[in-house]
Amino acid sequence: FIYLFNSNITLGKNGVPVAENFRLEQSTIADTVQVGQVRVKTLYLSVDPYMRCRMNEDTGSDYLRPWQLSEVADGGGIGVVEESQHHNLAKGDFVTSFTWPWQTAAILDGDSLQKLEPQLVNGRLSYFLGAAGITGLTALLGIREKGHVAAGANQTMVVSGAAGACGSLAGQIGRLEGCSRVVGIAGTDEKCSILVQEMGFDAAINYKKGDVAKQLRELCPGGVDVYFDNVGGDISDTVISQMNQNSHIILCGQISQYNKDVPYPPPLPPDIEKIQKERNITRERFLVLNYMDKQEASVLQLCQWIQEGKLKVRETVVEGLANIGAAFQSMMNGGNIGKQIVSISK
Ligand code: NAP
Repeated sequence: FIYLFNSNITLGKNGVPVAENFRLEQSTIADTVQVGQVRVKTLYLSVDPYMRCRMNEDTGSDYLRPWQLSEVADGGGIGVVEESQHHNLAKGDFVTSFTWPWQTAAILDGDSLQKLEPQLVNGRLSYFLGAAGITGLTALLGIREKGHVAAGANQTMVVSGAAGACGSLAGQIGRLEGCSRVVGIAGTDEKCSILVQEMGFDAAINYKKGDVAKQLRELCPGGVDVYFDNVGGDISDTVISQMNQNSHIILCGQISQYNKDVPYPPPLPPDIEKIQKERNITRERFLVLNYMDKQEASVLQLCQWIQEGKLKVRETVVEGLANIGAAFQSMMNGGNIGKQIVSISK
């Protein structure tokens, strides 16, 4: 089975993605595996916010290729090698790629795949799409490269999109790296209670209820020193208004703006930009793909924390390729806690 970006629906820059932007078809793959190739069975696929940008003709980024209408969609994926004509891969190896086709089985170029070591994540292979993959790297390297977190400096960190894949890890890593207080902002009471009870956040605010500015002032009496920003928009304007002199924004993502026709990163409203400049708050663009020289050591660090129980991992798993469009739509609307994963086959 293959999952195609749907030609019958045009999304446009200001549209909200729905499951019907995709369609499932049955197809066949070649019956011979050429030299350098492998035949794989797909085990897990990832759905991520950046995919919304791939639904536009102009993705707004050099490093993102638009999905083509009526072609197979692709993204992060994990599978097992079933037949190999590649010198470095054997039947039974687990492999991953950022451009895995949304298919139940595929013939892929072996050089495009990275081999995985399941024992690093206690056999939880899907973690390589989340906490031990790009998501974990984004949280860790975002904090290390842009957060200016220093142990013993008594810093308060705020995380938006806090119960999502990156956010839930960012708060925990902020603490591990030395922040003395970590406050999350998320979209439901259930998410807020998981952040505090399971993930070790000091407090969490449901941004859909009550006065966020007032709650933030109460929960961060010394102001905000580090802001891990996953969402942008009103939530971020509120946080930035309470940031301290010489503090730092980790500009991870701006999901509240992804269905809108705005440039990335979206400019701040003039009054908030004035605060940012006057208080010398850094807001540099962060892209995890620019730090892949640090991938190997950082993945080992993340796996070590997972094994030691210092990094708690949550996943929301949907079963079956037929449901991947719905899983993408749900994640964009807050249906996930932790990393949204699509399980394709056992
Ligand atoms: P995620 O947080 O697991 O899922 C998206 C979450 O965003 C939803 O669960 C929802 O939670 C929240 N959300 C959706 N619309 C919102 C809105 N209008 N306002 C506030 N929150 C909203 O996704 P993720 O993969 O971890 O990605 C998080 C962010 O990191 C995204 O902005 C993504 O683009 C970015 N990212 C950046 C890099 C990089 O290299 N810079 C790499 C990976 C990801 P609620 O229930 O809380 O609303």
